[in-house]
Amino acid sequence: MILGGDRGVVPPGQTEPMTLGEAVTPETQPISQPQRIDRYVGQYAERAVDMVASEIRALFAVAARPEIVSLAGGSPYVAALPLDVVGDMIGQLIASQGATALQYCTAQGDARLRERICDVMALEQVRAHPDEVVVTVGSQQALDLMARIFIDPGDVVLVEAPSYVGALGAFAAYQADVVHVAMDDDGLIPEALEEAIRRAAAAGRRAKFLYTVPNFHNPAGVTLAAGRRHRILDICRRAGLLVVEDNPYGLLGFDGEPMRALRADDTEGVVYLGTFSKTFAAGVRVGWAVAPTAIREKLILAAESAVLCHSSFSQLTVREYLDTQPWYEQIKDFRELYRERRDATLSALSRMMPPGCRWTRPTGGFYVWLRLPDGINAKAMLPRAISSRVAYVPGTGFYADGSGAQYARLCYSFPAPDRIGEGIRRLASVIETEVQLRDDFGPAH
Ligand code: PMP
Repeated sequence: MILGGDRGVVPPGQTEPMTLGEAVTPETQPISQPQRIDRYVGQYAERAVDMVASEIRALFAVAARPEIVSLAGGSPYVAALPLDVVGDMIGQLIASQGATALQYCTAQGDARLRERICDVMALEQVRAHPDEVVVTVGSQQALDLMARIFIDPGDVVLVEAPSYVGALGAFAAYQADVVHVAMDDDGLIPEALEEAIRRAAAAGRRAKFLYTVPNFHNPAGVTLAAGRRHRILDICRRAGLLVVEDNPYGLLGFDGEPMRALRADDTEGVVYLGTFSKTFAAGVRVGWAVAPTAIREKLILAAESAVLCHSSFSQLTVREYLDTQPWYEQIKDFRELYRERRDATLSALSRMMPPGCRWTRPTGGFYVWLRLPDGINAKAMLPRAISSRVAYVPGTGFYADGSGAQYARLCYSFPAPDRIGEGIRRLASVIETEVQLRDDFGPAH
């Protein structure tokens, strides 16, 4: 928490692992020492003052240690790609098209890549023209650009409860007033959405947009039921509320065909965000937004001021991959891999979790949302879990108001199934100890 609490006082070499009990030794300190007192403390823009490290960033350094089973990260298993083939493809790309791949391009993105993106979205029944697509640096940049063009300090944004930590960070950076809307096993609850819109209106405020992850939600692992999709769109249409549909996992469903995107039924009221991070490679950092014309123009202007243009090299790499490789077969392989890991997770949870735990049963994507027994705090428990060599993300990271302490996000995409089983065994034993402490000393032990 570099700027939290004691604003401006930055312990040398501070990284969040300190909060997890890791000592900072002279060997782990950076060579150029940060100053203890931030001499610019009074000069930051107001929006920078409250910027804090996300819960996930806090975990990465610790969770990467080999002895720890990390159910924290959220990283796709890119090692399942045919890396030698991708390497050869990139070599040939530079040899044959290097002068373009290593050059600037337009802020909207490579035209042929945008055509191929439309083919990908057709799998979810989105009919888009390449001109409607803006390429971004992962969908994270699209979130930042959306916040940049829509949010003034204090503006209301509606999000699910819980919501994706990276989106919360992007909205917080523009000082949004984030309002959570309840979900259940079928995703966002239409009545709760109506109520949130009504409350904002009663307070004389109008939400700028609804941010939603309809498929295989991060972190909740649930999917918006087909029967709710039209209702959600109707409610938003009536309220004049823009929908931001963030869909990184839509093609990673384990049963049947991909769900129909919200954007497929409303081209004027929905901005659709996609990414190649989970279906190809997160490291290429290629995502996109499809938006109504006026919004698209603003997104392009905002992207220009942020990055001039996105990496030509990354874009052409993705384009080449889609043009020359069996990308849809690869997605099917990813699905099978993640299905196996999901199965390992659910089976270990039902065999080992103590009474009082509940969890969601994802039908795609990467995440299970685990509710701990009453009185157990996932954030307080984390250092003890790390000592027991298992990591997860406490639920508090997924709420703008810091609630969610009784929940943990478990991500099964990265560890092998036997490691998942071992991680859940360790976690179950940590929870059992916590329950024992709760029973002996009360919830606030
Ligand atoms: N949205 C959601 C819901 C995500 O889970 C992620 C990745 N964890 C992103 C957006 C950002 O992905 P990227 O920037 O890699 O496209």
